[in-house]
Amino acid sequence: MTKARAGTAASPVRGWPGVGTQLAGRLAKLDIHGPQDLLLHLPLRYEDETRCVPIDALRGGEPMQVEGEVTDCEVRLRGRRQLVAQIRDDSGALTVRLLNFYPQQQKQLEPGKRVRVFGEARGGMFGFEMIHPRIRSVAPGEALPTALTPVYPTTAGLAQTAIRRLIERSVHAVPMEDFLPEAIRARLGLMPLSEAVPLLHQPPPDVDGAALEDRSHPAWQRLKFEELLVQQLSLRKAHAARRARTAPVLAGDGRLVAALLDDLPFALTGAQARASAQIDADLAQPHPMQRLLQGDVGSGKTIVAALAMLRAVESGWQAALMAPTEILAEQHYLKLDQWLAPLGISVEWIAGSLTKKQRAAACARLETGESVLAVGTHALIEDPVTLPRLGLAVVDEQHRFGVRQRLALRDKGEGVSPHMLMMSATPIPRTLAMSYYADLDVSVLDELPPGRTPIVTKLVSDARREEVMARVRDACREGRQTYWVCPLVEESEALELQTAIDTHAYLSEALEGLGVGLVHGRMKADEKRDTMAAFAAGELDVLVATTVIEVGVDVPNASLMVIEHAERFGLAQLHQLRGRVGRGKVDSVCILMFGEALSPTARARLKVIYEHTDGFEIAREDLRIRGPGEFVGARQSGVPLLRYADLETDGALIDAARDLAVELLAHQRPVAERIMTRWLAGREGLLRA
Ligand code: ADP
Ligand code: MG
Repeated sequence: MTKARAGTAASPVRGWPGVGTQLAGRLAKLDIHGPQDLLLHLPLRYEDETRCVPIDALRGGEPMQVEGEVTDCEVRLRGRRQLVAQIRDDSGALTVRLLNFYPQQQKQLEPGKRVRVFGEARGGMFGFEMIHPRIRSVAPGEALPTALTPVYPTTAGLAQTAIRRLIERSVHAVPMEDFLPEAIRARLGLMPLSEAVPLLHQPPPDVDGAALEDRSHPAWQRLKFEELLVQQLSLRKAHAARRARTAPVLAGDGRLVAALLDDLPFALTGAQARASAQIDADLAQPHPMQRLLQGDVGSGKTIVAALAMLRAVESGWQAALMAPTEILAEQHYLKLDQWLAPLGISVEWIAGSLTKKQRAAACARLETGESVLAVGTHALIEDPVTLPRLGLAVVDEQHRFGVRQRLALRDKGEGVSPHMLMMSATPIPRTLAMSYYADLDVSVLDELPPGRTPIVTKLVSDARREEVMARVRDACREGRQTYWVCPLVEESEALELQTAIDTHAYLSEALEGLGVGLVHGRMKADEKRDTMAAFAAGELDVLVATTVIEVGVDVPNASLMVIEHAERFGLAQLHQLRGRVGRGKVDSVCILMFGEALSPTARARLKVIYEHTDGFEIAREDLRIRGPGEFVGARQSGVPLLRYADLETDGALIDAARDLAVELLAHQRPVAERIMTRWLAGREGLLRA
């Protein structure tokens, strides 16, 4: 998410005494572009080097420091090349072993030199030894540091000692002015920045080490608050910028919408009707909508999107729907086509698998406005697709796209900003909703369409594969169909493909007499389509698949799903997969098979999916097990990532930061600007998402 800042060549980095081009480049990798950034580069943790123990008092299990004289040092070539030194004090001797070493370390460990080594000791064959301890040369009688030693995040080619020295120098030389007025600081009980920053870099001897370590110390609170404040300010600025843009007013006469509703074989659920009304109200505004439609798997988001797209058409504009995979995009395409063809509206299909000629023809129709709707994968945002009258862009499974891709779709419109509707089956936990997602309006489909049947989930060990096969045979004999999901092989796509092919061969033989089909990500689009169609038509009994069926497939007669090595999948993914069954009239079963040696985390995750069927519940548990980092990572948000604040523990700070952001923007704008500039200088480009 780190973007090189514009004009780095002229950036103040070059002006730092002692910072050359190479060092500047490495600092830039850490997003440090000037002295102020250095000061905001805070320690990961601290080490206590204020004490030394005698060598014979070393114990394993925790890092300790000893001081002594090097008595011996040699490069050993037996086995792996390594540097082995002996260090001695009055009480005993310690072996120090370096498996990778630089000439400079060899010099540091020349016999007769005095060093302090800090590390975890363990009992070796000849007394205690430390592998790769931190080594510091000292003069005889040199005083121990009185403060904890900060340990900073660093990057290749930038030694811990080098960055520490740079920061140490800056703490003294660069004033960290507090832009927050004192009255506000006092009211919120915030430590001044000019105190907090030096304290975090150079904790005084009497500091509460535990509070520093767990970041509950007032100095940490201050920095976390400032960071959250910057995030809230950026969000609000992005919001204001969006309100300032012009979007087409999509307040059609409702004729097409009414016609579609009339034709549908079902009535909208209350939740769908509500969401649709919220979207309509946004579309009638002259500035772009930015709304998330959130609903569990199977809650019926597609029809809500279709209705919004029709609004655009009624109002004389175009609409586009983008989905992350070709299978999912195609399901949307087929569904929309089925709904809209009777109304005389044709939908263009845009995907990587189109021939050049097909694509050119589709593009031409969209460019002239002959076609008003497009559905596709990310091929939609590539050249030569143009949508000159794009009034509404819909993005399904929005978290699977990066911020740039969503922006690219938005920018397909000419002159105006289209309205954006994002869809997701993954609910956003509250703290995330308040921070990274605060600029989105949200509609929730909290009701499933009627007629869904509950799904029974079973956990079965790999060893009981035969029983599972018997179940599959039974289900198929009763005229029902089965999905068989192949194991994920993270480390190799080729291996994953091979596993799918092997599984298909194995099942075809073991389930003699039944029709067994295979779909995987490497198949040609039309082969995939034919197989899916055959399964949907009931010509195949079993569909062996990789996770390409994860989203969107809709075959009501399929009531059994087997997932192999379920422990390798993410919880959201398992939930999505499981949502493919339970769509028909008969009771559905999802069998999660698991391999032998399950880790405690894997066990905990399978328990969650076993016990819960509600997507919100699952997401909450997922967050608890994994922490929020991964949610955010997946979003690739343009909102500045939080380095210090923790969404799980700092909820109260988020509330306070949000209130203060509102207050500053209303009454003390220059303060807000200065704070943002210090933290974000040059990075605003990405915040427009
Ligand atoms: P998702 O929210 O997971 O994208 P879909 O839009 O694919 O869900 O809808 C799942 C299935 O439910 C589809 O077959 C769809 O046609 C059907 N459906 C949607 N809304 C209703 C409704 N109100 N009543 C009955 N079936 C519905
Ligand atoms: Mg969907």
